[in-house]
Amino acid sequence: MIWDRELETAPPADVRALAEAAWQSQLAHLRENSAFHRPNLGSGDLRLADLAGLPFTTKEDLKRAIEANPPFGSNLCVPEAQVKRVYQTSGTTGAPSVLALTLADADVWTEVGTRSYYATGIHEEHSVLSTFGAGPFVAGHTHFVLLRIGSRVVPVGPGDTERVLFALRAGLVDTLLVTPSFAQYLANQSDPPQVAHVVTGGEPGGGIPEIRDHIQSALGAVVTEVMGIGDIAPSLFGECRHQQGMHFCGTGHVWPELVDPDSRQPMEIETGAVGELVYTHLTRQAMPMLRFLGGDIVRIEGTSCECGRTSFRMRCLGRRDDMFIVRGVNVYPSAILAVVGGFKPRVTGRARVVRNGDGVSVEPPVPVEVEVPTGGDERLGAELEQAIRARLTFRASVSLVPEAEFGDAGYKTRLTLRR
Ligand SMILES: [Zn+2]
Repeated sequence: MIWDRELETAPPADVRALAEAAWQSQLAHLRENSAFHRPNLGSGDLRLADLAGLPFTTKEDLKRAIEANPPFGSNLCVPEAQVKRVYQTSGTTGAPSVLALTLADADVWTEVGTRSYYATGIHEEHSVLSTFGAGPFVAGHTHFVLLRIGSRVVPVGPGDTERVLFALRAGLVDTLLVTPSFAQYLANQSDPPQVAHVVTGGEPGGGIPEIRDHIQSALGAVVTEVMGIGDIAPSLFGECRHQQGMHFCGTGHVWPELVDPDSRQPMEIETGAVGELVYTHLTRQAMPMLRFLGGDIVRIEGTSCECGRTSFRMRCLGRRDDMFIVRGVNVYPSAILAVVGGFKPRVTGRARVVRNGDGVSVEPPVPVEVEVPTGGDERLGAELEQAIRARLTFRASVSLVPEAEFGDAGYKTRLTLRR
């Protein structure tokens, strides 16, 4: 089942024509109303194909835009009276950053999010327990999405284990929206609750086979993933039941590009390509982004699917900021999670890399902390080090950390610990 069948199954040429038309209107809007983007746009013909010649927008640029013209910033393109929803997102450096939406912008978030969640298999007849905080977080927009789909919703606060367990054991819901860390926490219970469908979001993990398989077998569930980018749309990708990566669901509203993570040169969005995703809004009114560097490194899994959707599918390998280099080889913490996940139930599934200082290059052995259930397992550390060496070709020094000391109760795991 597909939410917007005509659009989501349209041939690539039609999708491009639609995006091009939307871009031309967006371009006129930016030239007229954006003090922030105008200097980069010139006055001549500028088509989607020409975007690659424009500079990127980063989180730091957005911060400067706010400083230039507070409180909304020089990138606000509508009169302040039209701003109807404001999020204070976490900034990269200290002060929060401000994200403003018009009513139409909020509606586009809902539309794109609805395509994403519908793709995961959440439909009108389902009952959904959502642990995605509805309060100050952009992920709370999921509640508008579930209303539009028409499914039954049971909202629960992030990490409220007691209510999650009660709802599952009482049979209140058939679908669970959680972080993969929390899904693993449930899967590690001695008598894990059962649920038909788990949708993971907020961090990579649901797409890592070793982690996915464990959640699926322990909870008796099918696991699919969603992903969003706060500054673009809180839900922008949704994985269908074929479980072959998350479909891009922003057709007509967002134009994606792929760039090389090191040189930032444009790359073809084709099966097997690994790069950083870059986003341009096509219909945003209040704060349109132009070539926004999202910071997520992804692998393109395909450009067609048995489900009929024609948008590309991808898996997120991790945040660019979490990447490090060992003897010239790029490593993402999610790759370490995949190796560690193969050692269940001797491990819980959570692990993190310890980084000293800010440098991207790390000298081996790389310190890795692996969470373990209480109780000693003398050979485990050495076995993990061997497995990491064999599969990822670098030396790690593994410390085993008991559950009680690992911290943050399993809701969301920071993959990098900086000391
Ligand atoms: Zn599909």
